[in-house]
Amino acid sequence: MSLKGRGAVITGGGRGIGKAVARCLAEAGASVVVSARSTNEIEAVAAELKADGLEAHAITCDVSDEASVNAMASAAMERLGTVDILVNNAGIAPSNPVKRVTLEEWNRVMGINVTGTFLCTKAFLPGMLERGWGRVVNVASVAGLRGSRYIATYCASKHAQIGFTRAVADEVADKGITVNAICPGYVDTPMTEYSVTQITEKAGVSPEEALQHILATSPQKRLIRPEEIAAVALMLCGKDGEGISGQAIAIDQGQGNH
Ligand code: NAD
Repeated sequence: MSLKGRGAVITGGGRGIGKAVARCLAEAGASVVVSARSTNEIEAVAAELKADGLEAHAITCDVSDEASVNAMASAAMERLGTVDILVNNAGIAPSNPVKRVTLEEWNRVMGINVTGTFLCTKAFLPGMLERGWGRVVNVASVAGLRGSRYIATYCASKHAQIGFTRAVADEVADKGITVNAICPGYVDTPMTEYSVTQITEKAGVSPEEALQHILATSPQKRLIRPEEIAAVALMLCGKDGEGISGQAIAIDQGQGNH
């Protein structure tokens, strides 16, 4: 129970990676708030955790909206007492060749993936600074470390999220707070299912062929399990992660070395 007594907020906690991170941190003893736009999903996650005797709350929030983030932050602090851990996980990943990307799509992706990370960090960092202890984990992507065709907007947003991670980590380096990014390759979540659907529709191939296309980028020829991301988040939040900050940790089966 390495996180006993810690309060943790996980954005995008209604499914996929966020859901796995919420369970992992709660099982390690943290009291968690799962937050996302889809109220029914986060309520289901909180109910599942509570049914297992863990402390969990669901608070609806759109991370791209400042008023919504601030309302969520107040409610989270009220329920948890203190928020010591923030996992900025909410994100979207549409794909399009850059010539077809609309300004609306660009702003939407930046608003959630980058501004959302900024707004949530800004809301919870003051409390962490006051107490001299905090952990911020930003779920970025391998798309934040290199470029790939048809996801220029997503790549730009994830590069920005990693730049923000490094800068804030430096700013709070001597304040008992660590700030890191986790950079997964393709993970087995609804977001990847959506990518398969998009490839199927846009390239006119079968879902199996679309999945093979995705797995072609994977040295181990498999999707990463959400629990593998959660395990690294837990390590960063626990005692043994104390010395790690400002890092962008790839969980990509060694894909970056090819
Ligand atoms: P997902 O689509 O399964 O879940 C995304 C979550 O974010 C959902 O709970 C959704 O409600 C929430 N969300 C979306 N927009 C929001 C908003 N405006 N405000 C609040 N919540 C919002 O996605 P996932 O695969 O679990 O991805 C989680 C994170 O991991 C994302 O940041 C994504 O970019 C990143 N990532 C995913 C993969 C992958 O292959 N799935 C790979 C690398 C990085």
